[in-house]
Amino acid sequence: MTSSPSNRILIVEDEQDVVDMLTLHLEKAGGFAVSVATDGAAGLKKAREELPGLVILDLMLPKMPGLEVCKLLKTDGATRHIPIIMLTAKAEEIDRIVGLEVGADDYVTKPFSPREIVLRVKAIMRRGKGDITDEKMTFGTITVDPSRHHVTVAGKKVRLTSVEFKLLSMLMLRRGRVQSRDRLLNEVWGYESLIDTRTVDTHVRRLRKKLGKAAEAIETVRGFGYRLREG
Ligand code: CA
Repeated sequence: MTSSPSNRILIVEDEQDVVDMLTLHLEKAGGFAVSVATDGAAGLKKAREELPGLVILDLMLPKMPGLEVCKLLKTDGATRHIPIIMLTAKAEEIDRIVGLEVGADDYVTKPFSPREIVLRVKAIMRRGKGDITDEKMTFGTITVDPSRHHVTVAGKKVRLTSVEFKLLSMLMLRRGRVQSRDRLLNEVWGYESLIDTRTVDTHVRRLRKKLGKAAEAIETVRGFGYRLREG
């Protein structure tokens, strides 16, 4: 599924000062149109009605927790293509946020700077437009079908998050060539040095787990990055 062309960003957050700060900077810096919901249930409803180009979703919300909203949006065919950035105050939640089978596309930890969030939003909107090939790629038992956003291992469907999908696609495209963490970070996430390169490791670990035995094809190049084995 292609990304929504909408320039609208839905903010789901009950803290008024965070909403005000986000709204101000997103409208000013990106020309984005912002709509707001102040609890999880209202956020879910608005996301389904408005089909925004992106959702900024707080973890701690009245009525329905952010993770539940995220899960519901990501399991619904009508909304699963909408990128979601989760806001969290707790570093220990990050693994859960990105690790969910139907997890968020990205996360930002509070407190964050307006500049940081605007850069991430722009990066995600750009990423959503998709710059990778549409042709089916096969390696060993792994098949990646970018046009259908579909991955199989030995004919069995594997559910990947959009970040994991893009990581795998990059490695498949550049088979046999080492990809540095920095490069993967830039191309998969689309921003420069704002997040830690260890984020790449976290996502690769998740990806490997989902690929099972087929993950042996992804080699770690110590201190540098990753490579999909040649042949
Ligand atoms: Ca909150």
